[in-house]
Amino acid sequence: MKIPVGILGATGAVGQRFVQLLADHPWFEVAELAASDRSAGRPYREACTWRLAGAPSDAVADIRVATCEGPFRAKVLFSGLDSSVAGEVEAGLAGQGYAVVSNARNHRMDPDVPLLIPEVNPDHLDALDAQRRRTGGGYIVTNPNCSVVGLAMALAPLHRAFGLREVAVATLQALSGAGYPGVASMDATDNVVPYIGGGEEEKIEAEPRRILGRFDGRGFVPAAFAISAAVHRVPVSDGHTMAIFVRLERKTSAADAARALAEFRGEPQERRLPSAPRRPIHVLDAPDRPQPRLDRDREGGMAVSVGRVREDRTFDLKLEALVHNTIRGAAGAAILNAELLKARDLLP
Ligand code: NAP
Repeated sequence: MKIPVGILGATGAVGQRFVQLLADHPWFEVAELAASDRSAGRPYREACTWRLAGAPSDAVADIRVATCEGPFRAKVLFSGLDSSVAGEVEAGLAGQGYAVVSNARNHRMDPDVPLLIPEVNPDHLDALDAQRRRTGGGYIVTNPNCSVVGLAMALAPLHRAFGLREVAVATLQALSGAGYPGVASMDATDNVVPYIGGGEEEKIEAEPRRILGRFDGRGFVPAAFAISAAVHRVPVSDGHTMAIFVRLERKTSAADAARALAEFRGEPQERRLPSAPRRPIHVLDAPDRPQPRLDRDREGGMAVSVGRVREDRTFDLKLEALVHNTIRGAAGAAILNAELLKARDLLP
C-alpha cells in the first residue's frame, strides 16, 4: 500500500511539479490537494491552470481542492505554499501532528528545523527530536532556496576535501523561479534584471553555511566560510545557472577538484531512494557547458551539472553550476527529503 500524501499550494508552479513528479511514485500517492479560498471547493482540473507538459491523471484532476487548515487524512503534506501564508499554515499543521515537507522559506532557518539536502547533511535530521518535543509530534522539514540547492551541492565536495574559506557567486535565474505569471514579459524579454525580491541574495548568503555546518545536538553551527552573492533574472524558462568562485583552505588543482565533484555520493545513492540521481553531480568537460536548455533535465532534473572547473589567480578555483529550479530546486528536492524520512522510518 502506498503512503497517501497531500499537497499544499497544489495549484501553483511548485504544486504542479509535485503533482507531476508524484504521478506513479513507487511509495507515495497523491490523496489530497489544498490551496487558497480562491481554489477551494472546486475539482483540481478546474481550480488549476495546468502549465507543465502532460496532464494530471483523472484521479488527481477529480480531487476537490481543500483549504490548507486541515484536517487531512494524509499524515505527510508537501508544501508549495506562497511564503505570505506558509509560515503560519505549516506551523499550525506541524502542531496538529503532520509531517510538513516544505519548499517555502519561512521556517528554513528555525533553530530546530532541518534545512535538508539528503546527499549533503542527512545528519541534520537529528534536530527532529527537539522539534517533535516542541510540537507534540508533527514537524517541518525544509529544502533550500532553488539556487542554493545547486550551490550547496557543488560546494559540499570542495568543502569536505579542501575546506572553503570564501565563496562568491553570481546567479542567472530562470523565470519559473518567480512562479506564475512571474516577471512581466516586457521586463523579461531581451533583458537581464539584476535584482530578485524576497531577500534572494540574503538567502543565498545564509543557507549554504547552515547546510554545510553541523548539528551539535542542541543547535545548528554554521560553517565558517564567507559568502557573497549577486543575483540576476534572465529570460530562461527553467534552470538556474551560477558562476562560482572559491578560495580554499588547502589549494588544489582543477583536475582534483573536478574529481572530488564527480565522485560525490551520499545517503540517497547508498539507499537507492526512488528520486535519487545515480550521480548527484555531473562534471561536464565541454568548454561551453552547462547550459540550461541542454543540461537541466539530467537524471530527470535531479542532478546538478557542473562545468568549467578551472584554477583562478584571484580566487583559487572557479566553476559553473546548473540546477533545475522547480525539480531539484523545489518539488523534486522535497520529494527526495520525504523519501529519506521514510527510509529512516521518521514519517508519522
Ligand atoms: P505560485 O505559483 O504563486 O503558487 C502559490 C500557491 O500558494 C498556489 O497554490 C496558491 O493557491 C497558494 N496560495 C496563495 N495564497 C494562499 C492562501 N492565502 N492560502 C492558501 N494557499 C495560498 O508560487 P510558486 O512559484 O509555486 O512558489 C511556491 C513556494 O515555493 C514559494 O514559497 C516559493 O518561494 C517556493 N519556491 C519556489 C521555487 C520556484 O522555482 N518557483 C523554487 C523553490 C521554492 P491559489 O492558486 O488558490 O491562489
